[in-house]
Amino acid sequence: MKLNFRKLTTIGLISAFVASTVAYQATAEDNMPVGRTAVEIKDGVYPASYFPNTEILGADEMRITALGTGMPNQTKAAVSISFLVELGNGDKFLFDVGTGSSGNLFSLRPDFSKIDKMFFSHLHVDHVGDFMGMHVGGWLSGRYTPLRIFGPSGATPELGTKAYVENMKKAYAWDLQTRSGALPDAGAKLEVTEFDYMQENEVVYKENGVTIRSWPAIHSLDGSVSYSLEWGDLKYVFGGDTYPNNWYVKYAKGADIASHEAFLPPKALSNYFGWDLKQATYVSTRIHTEPAAFGKVMSAVKPRMALGYHSVLSPENYQAILEGVRSTYDGPLTLARDLQVINLTKDQIVVRDVTVDDYVLPPAVGKGYIDAKRSEAKSPSDKVNAGKWDGYTPPAMPK
Ligand SMILES: [Zn+2]
Ligand SMILES: [Zn+2]
Repeated sequence: MKLNFRKLTTIGLISAFVASTVAYQATAEDNMPVGRTAVEIKDGVYPASYFPNTEILGADEMRITALGTGMPNQTKAAVSISFLVELGNGDKFLFDVGTGSSGNLFSLRPDFSKIDKMFFSHLHVDHVGDFMGMHVGGWLSGRYTPLRIFGPSGATPELGTKAYVENMKKAYAWDLQTRSGALPDAGAKLEVTEFDYMQENEVVYKENGVTIRSWPAIHSLDGSVSYSLEWGDLKYVFGGDTYPNNWYVKYAKGADIASHEAFLPPKALSNYFGWDLKQATYVSTRIHTEPAAFGKVMSAVKPRMALGYHSVLSPENYQAILEGVRSTYDGPLTLARDLQVINLTKDQIVVRDVTVDDYVLPPAVGKGYIDAKRSEAKSPSDKVNAGKWDGYTPPAMPK
């Protein structure tokens, strides 16, 4: 990348001048690194890799980014499960928010005023572990409206999504109180929609031309579900952890992208965790879906592309999963890795890697966030404040 320093200096001076006179507020676009400009994709020809915020999504296009595809014992290469779905109409949806996935979300520098909807497949930590980090991180980074959470009930009320969110609020009482008042009041709110985990292909969300449905999954306890998202001519299916089940085979039909777990087969799982083969066989083939079973499911569903996930894809794991899937399915397939992106239109499906920077700049906040109502910021008590060292005086607050 060639930098024009003279131009940069001029722009710098002008920006400083503008900022000092009319309090100019940077937009997400202004905050884009020099040399990167969002462009329209012409004739379906995409750059080799995806640099966040550099491509304008087509009016009928869906972008699915794998934020986490791994296991509860995450690694640097694969954190726990989360997928971000972005639509050409501007809507954004998170499906699961597993442990470690928030780092990958933040490295995309999305417009956080739009990241306000989460759908939970079930309440295992590898699917919801970064919930509070994403709530607070998003609230700090531009969300000034409530965070909406959609998730299944459980066999009893205390095992459902509503109880999970309420209990997280209680556990993080100290954190949430310190920030409320200083940050936009409405951004603190958590709005939960808990639905019956047994409902079959019923609508859980219908707004702005987007319909999301859920159906049951079979996993550990009652209360794991899968989702479909339909928008325009496109259908994306997000499979929750499950043993192969009738509902998925029935309701994932017609999917452009059908994602489903493709767990490590028994022997590879035993090697990976150091478990004995009995425990590994039980987990791989009774609690989850091993690759050969995933292949059978996909041979029945016949999506435009099958998307397998839920493994750390070391070379030997990848080989074991691929062999298993290919023993029963010969259709289009992606075994998802973290920070892979899929662009989906009716004409094509393009799978690429996302290129992110370790020191990515924070997303700029919008005017709506800056102007949003805030009540009084909190402070320690007088008895604690009395301990302030008089050897330091903070600078004056800017006007
Ligand atoms: Zn699970
Ligand atoms: Zn899981």
